[in-house]
Amino acid sequence: MTKSILITGGAGFIGSHVVKLFVEKYPNYRIINLDALTYAGNLENLKEIEGAQNYFFEKADIQDSEALRRIFSEHGITDVIHLAAESHVDRSISDPLAFVATNVMGTVNLLNVSKSAWADNLQDHLFYHVSTDEVYGSLHDDGFFLETTPYDPQSPYSASKASSDHFVRAYANTYKMRTVISNCSNNYGPNHFPEKLIPLCINNIRNNKPLPIYGKGENVRDWLFVKDHARAIDTVFHKGKAGDTYNIGGFNEWQNIDIVRLLCQKMDEKLGREKGSSEKLITFVKDRAGHDLRYAIDATKIKEELGWEPSLQFEEGIEITIDWYLKNQDWLDHVTSGEYQSYYKNHYQTS
Ligand code: NAD
Repeated sequence: MTKSILITGGAGFIGSHVVKLFVEKYPNYRIINLDALTYAGNLENLKEIEGAQNYFFEKADIQDSEALRRIFSEHGITDVIHLAAESHVDRSISDPLAFVATNVMGTVNLLNVSKSAWADNLQDHLFYHVSTDEVYGSLHDDGFFLETTPYDPQSPYSASKASSDHFVRAYANTYKMRTVISNCSNNYGPNHFPEKLIPLCINNIRNNKPLPIYGKGENVRDWLFVKDHARAIDTVFHKGKAGDTYNIGGFNEWQNIDIVRLLCQKMDEKLGREKGSSEKLITFVKDRAGHDLRYAIDATKIKEELGWEPSLQFEEGIEITIDWYLKNQDWLDHVTSGEYQSYYKNHYQTS
């Protein structure tokens, strides 16, 4: 039987790269992209595969069980790769319930519908849940997150993702569903919505606007190029052991302020601006409430057991990313109109 894979959140940043990779690499699979098209979802992210024979789009909310049942039945869904989520920590601080609704209730709803649809042969199907390293909390020493690190989520976003991870494990244990989870560090690359640090800075440098940096910019994150994450998801989907968890990361830690300085330097070069001019835009703002100091992933398990490792060095990935944004300024203009403007003004209280 050919696979009919439901990928949720496929119009978002990471999901769109996963959908494109699967549609192009596996012409014999049917790929069904389910997305509610919230402010973060954008079908422009998928224009390269428009019209592909093995690609289908369904606009639906993962909280809508009736829609899910119809989609499972019409497409004969054999497997799920679940990425749909509310994903921005700052938004979770101002509206935690939206995160509970989609990330917790939506995930449990999707688990329920999958369980019923696959009831006759649960062992032939896989439910793959894509999660974040933020579930492990904040590191205050020079250690790393392992798959065995106890969960200690600190923001409403990470609490909602941790909860959804627990539900996935509970369904594996209680109902014997075949599940797998991966927890990845910060992604960057094309199609990243410009509320997140790297595209926000690229967009603001382009427009000569202030670069708002939380606190002193000392928070440390591990960064991975989004296409490497999509490759890792492909690897875990095909080779991962059911019931297991895999950490995915770039072995690439940076303080926020150093990333911003690197972006300023590269953008000055690319835009032909005087050296140092973009750095003048750096503006330190009040720190994010409860801001986690450091996340760092140990991705040894996926490397040793499944043979995946990042393919790009950070500087190479950043070059590709900046070039993509400069070449796709209409994409940036489109996604930063409307809802983005009011969010941005409320959040940073800028004009
Ligand atoms: P994103 O915000 O760019 O995209 C999320 C997508 O989900 C959007 O297309 C949106 O329309 C859709 N969506 C939201 N609510 C929905 C709902 N109720 N029903 C159906 N669709 C809905 O997010 P992203 O950065 O691409 O993250 C994708 C997944 O990867 C998330 O689960 C996130 O927690 C996880 N993750 C992200 C990162 C990162 O650095 N961005 C790192 C690790 C894990």
